[in-house]
Order: sequence, then C-alpha cells, then structure tokens
Amino acid sequence: MTDLSDLPIRDDLRGRTPYGAPQLDVPVALNTNENPHGPSDRLVKALGEAVMDLAGTLNRYPDRDAVALRDDLAAFLNDDTPGAGLTSRQVWAANGSNEVIQQILQAFGGPGRRALGFEPSYSMHPIITRVTGTEWVDAHRDEDFGLAPERAVAAVREHRPDVVFLTSPNNPTGTALPPAAIEAVLDAAPGMVVVDEAYAEFRRAGTPSALTLLPGRPRLIVTRTMSKAFAMAGTRLGYLAADPAVIDALMLVRLPYHLSSVTQAVARTAVAHGEELLAAVAGLRRERDDLVGWLRGEGFAVADSDANFVLFGRFPDRRRVWEALLSRGVLIREVGPPEWLRVSVGTPGEMAAFREALKESL
Ligand SMILES: *Cc1c(COP(=O)(O)O)cnc(C)c1O
Repeated sequence: MTDLSDLPIRDDLRGRTPYGAPQLDVPVALNTNENPHGPSDRLVKALGEAVMDLAGTLNRYPDRDAVALRDDLAAFLNDDTPGAGLTSRQVWAANGSNEVIQQILQAFGGPGRRALGFEPSYSMHPIITRVTGTEWVDAHRDEDFGLAPERAVAAVREHRPDVVFLTSPNNPTGTALPPAAIEAVLDAAPGMVVVDEAYAEFRRAGTPSALTLLPGRPRLIVTRTMSKAFAMAGTRLGYLAADPAVIDALMLVRLPYHLSSVTQAVARTAVAHGEELLAAVAGLRRERDDLVGWLRGEGFAVADSDANFVLFGRFPDRRRVWEALLSRGVLIREVGPPEWLRVSVGTPGEMAAFREALKESL
C-alpha cells in the first residue's frame, strides 16, 4: 500500500488534512448553510429546458468569458444594491466563490507573498491561501467576534499583507462588519482587500454591502455566491465585483473555459428566477431571529447573526452535544471557537426537530 508520504508531494502539503465538513445522509442537515428550499416545479422545468437547449452544442467549448452570465449578475447586483452601477466588465464568475478566491490568490498572492484574515472566519481562506503557496497570518477577531477598526488597521500595518480577507457577514459567527471597519482597512492595506459577502442577502436591514465602496477603489474585491441565499449550491457558481483591471488580472490565471456551458446556462436561468429564489430569504431571516431568541431564552450564549446560521454555546464538551444531536438525526457543524457550535437555518419543521433534539441532548 502506497502512503501519501511515500509520494514526492510538495513539502508544504505534507501532514495537511483536506477540507472535511462531514457529508452524512441524515433526516435534518443543518451543517453547511445551504438554503433548505429546493427549486420550484416551474424552475425545475426552466432549468431542464435551458440544458436541453444547449445539449446539442456540447461538442463546442463554452463562452470563455461568460459575458451573458456576467451581464445578468451585474444587473442582479445593481438591483440588490441600488447605486452600485455595475457592468459585466466589473463582474467575474467561477465555479463557486472558492474558485474565485483561488484565482484572486493566484493573481495577487503566491510564494513570497502574504494574506491576512481575522479568525474565527471561513476555514477555506487559510486553506486556499496556503495551497497557492501564500503565507497566512491570523490577526484574530475581537472577543465578541467583531473587528475594531483601530486593531484591524494595526494588524494590517504590522504585517503588510498582499491580500486581506474580511468576511461580512462572517462565517461561522454571523457578525456583519460596519463599513467604517472595511474603509479603514482599505485605507491602510498596501494590497488587495477581499470582502467575502457569501451571506450578504441575509443581512439585517441597515447593514450596507461593501459594493457601495467600490467606486474609486481598485484594490477592493467583493465576492458573492449562488450557494447560499440563491439556493444553488449544487450549481457551483461564485462571482465577484471589482474594478475592470482586477478582472484583467484574473484572466491571466483562470483556466480556459473554466465555466461549463451547463453551469453558465443553469446559473443564468437561476438569476432570471432570482425573485422567486430570494423570496425564501425573508422567511429564513425570520426563522433565524426566532432561533436566536429561543436559544437565548434557553440560556445559551448566541452571537448576533446577519446570516442564515447561528453560532451558540458555550459547551465544555461540544463534541458530546454534536454527537447527541446526530444520534437524533440532526447534523450541525462543529466549527469555530472550541466551546461553540453552528447551526444552519432550515425549514420551520427542521428547526422544530433541532430544538427538540437539542433539549434532549443536554
Ligand atoms: C459558503 C461560503 C462560501 C462559498 O462557497 P462556494 O464555493 O461559492 O460554494 C464562500 N465564503 C464563505 C464565507 C462561505 O461561508
């Protein structure tokens, strides 16, 4: 039997463990922040027709620059954030925002360069950083999971990173950043600043998107995804908005034809049905706020959430609680600071099952 360590693998990959949120077949899956609502019959039909329409041309490569899709996404962002005024030249798409992030690091990171983030945050930021040969610096979030602008700026001044990651709303804590913190980091950062807005559509009223900061700031990149609010995790479509020059940089590192014709057609169909897909977001937000209230009523510590998940604790032995829930058919996520657990917001029925199972598990 050949072992990984027998292979001439890169030294910096030795001893690493792959990304591994457990994928288990359970009745109630509340572990990866998916939208629990599958597409409607109407959308299923439209998706099928879109694939049918292109199936006869699958011998041909797709549009390498995915221009029509980027046009659609620009229009969506302009609706989401009035005044954004984006065109397809300022929007880029790839296979999930993970690939978008990888392309950013390939273009702006790499050997001899450094990326900085504030953990606890999205675990893929340091993973993709290191896989691209970039050094990772964790400058930590504040005790309450927020990020005081003065401290963020001090960390940026100290480490002079080529890429800074700000996640807002943050995963796994749910915390949104005030625009002042993002602006302060942008002013201090010598390199690119990536605001990961995977959960932007779930933010509470009055929390602005970093898209509003784009004009005149060519080192700002705002990333989004269709995996969460858009209920299309299976499609693998992430995107970003930035200055056209940033997109010119990403074109240097992307693989030719990286977005399949099927992906482009399915994503365009989903964006065309965006109103229907996002209609569920209001309900999920309400469900989230109810969940936060219930957990607090039961005496748990709960982080404020602008996302479709909630971080709660504190458990001296969180593994035991996670396992007790799993044994009752409810899968949540063991992630973030050691005494906390994260639960995604599901349907009302799934949340009732979670509440019941949690009470039994304690
Ligand atoms: C889920 C998530 C992503 C998304 O990934 P996709 O590759 O688009 O599915 C990106 N950033 C954060 C913070 C996430 O939680």
